[in-house]
Amino acid sequence: MNEVKDLIIIGAGPAGMTAALYMARAGKSVLLFEKLAAGGQAALTHSIENYPGFEDGINGMDLSDKMRQQVERYDVVFEYDSVESVSQDITTKIHTVTSGAGNSFQAKTILITTGTTSRRLGAKGEDKFFGRGIGTCAVCDGNFYKNKIVAVIGGGNSALEESVYLADIAAEVYIIHRRDEFRADPFVQDRVKKHPKIKLLIDTVVEEFVGDQKLNKCIIKNVKTNTLSELAIDGVFLYVGLDANTSFLDLQYKDKSGFITVDSENRVNKDGLFAAGDCCSGTHKQVIIACGDGAKASYSITDHLSKL
Ligand code: NAP
Repeated sequence: MNEVKDLIIIGAGPAGMTAALYMARAGKSVLLFEKLAAGGQAALTHSIENYPGFEDGINGMDLSDKMRQQVERYDVVFEYDSVESVSQDITTKIHTVTSGAGNSFQAKTILITTGTTSRRLGAKGEDKFFGRGIGTCAVCDGNFYKNKIVAVIGGGNSALEESVYLADIAAEVYIIHRRDEFRADPFVQDRVKKHPKIKLLIDTVVEEFVGDQKLNKCIIKNVKTNTLSELAIDGVFLYVGLDANTSFLDLQYKDKSGFITVDSENRVNKDGLFAAGDCCSGTHKQVIIACGDGAKASYSITDHLSKL
C-alpha cells in the first residue's frame, strides 16, 4: 500500500490537471490517475478556438501537452492506469482507489474528473464496422480518408467543427443530421454552410452500415418522407453526444444519464468525495469551464482538508 495522499484525482483532462496544479501549489500531496493520455476529449479536438490566450486557436493535443507539462513542474505523481473502484473506510474516512492493474492507493480526499466518451449510435452494422470505417475521432483517423468520401453524424459543435477539419482532407463530407436545426454554435454553422466540400443531409438518419471487409455505404432514411436511399461512403465519424465515464461509481451519486451530481462546492458527498468538469451533471462541456471547475473544486478540497 502506498502512502496516504491528501488527494487522488481520477482523470487528467483539463479539470483534473487544473485541480492538480492548484493543489500542488497549495502544498498538498497529489496523485493523478490517467487511463490513456492526458487531455481527455479536448486532446482529440483538432482546433480549440474559444480558449482565451490563443488568438489563432490551438490544437487540442498541444493544449493538453502544455497543461501536462505545467503540472509536471510540481510534485504531482502521475499513475497511468484505469480505476476500477473507489471506497471509503467508515472509521478512518480514508478513501481507497483500486486500479485496473489491481493496485490500491489511498487518500484523504478524491476528485473525480473522468470526463466523457463519445456515444455510439446503435445502428445496424455499426459494431461490425467500428474501427473498420466507423470511428469517433476525426483527428485520430481523418488522414485515412485523403480524397475520399466521409460522413459525419450529428448536429452539435463536435460534428460541425470536425466536419470542417475533415473537409481539408477528404474529397467530400456529408453531415447527416436527424433534424433540420443544429445545436452547434451559429458561427460554426455558418462556416459549414459556406464550405464547398460539405453537404448537409438534414432530417436524415442512418438505418444501416453496409460493406464487405470495410464499410462502403450506408442506408439512410429521410424521416420526413420515410424514403430510404443508399449513400456511398468510405468512412463515418459519429458525433452524437457524450457519455460520462463514471461506471466505477455508485448509482446513488449519478443522475439518470450517468453524470455525477455535485453541490455548489463540487462535493459528491460530505466525506471527501468531489467531482468536477464534464463528468458532472449540468455543466457546459467547454475546456475553459472544466478548468474553472477544477480550480473551484481545489478550493473546496483544501477547505475540507483543513477541517480534518
Ligand atoms: P451534442 O451537443 O450533445 O450533440 C449531439 C448531436 O448528435 C445532436 O445534434 C443530436 O441531435 C445528435 N444525436 C444524438 N443522438 C442521436 C441519435 N441517436 N441519432 C442521430 N443523431 C443523434 O454533442 P457534441 O457535439 O459532442 O458536444 C457535446 C458538448 O461539448 C456540448 O455541450 C458542446 O457544446 C460541447 N462542445 C463544445 C465545443 C466548442 O465550444 N468549440 C466543441 C465541441 C463540443 P439533436 O440535436 O436532434 O438532439
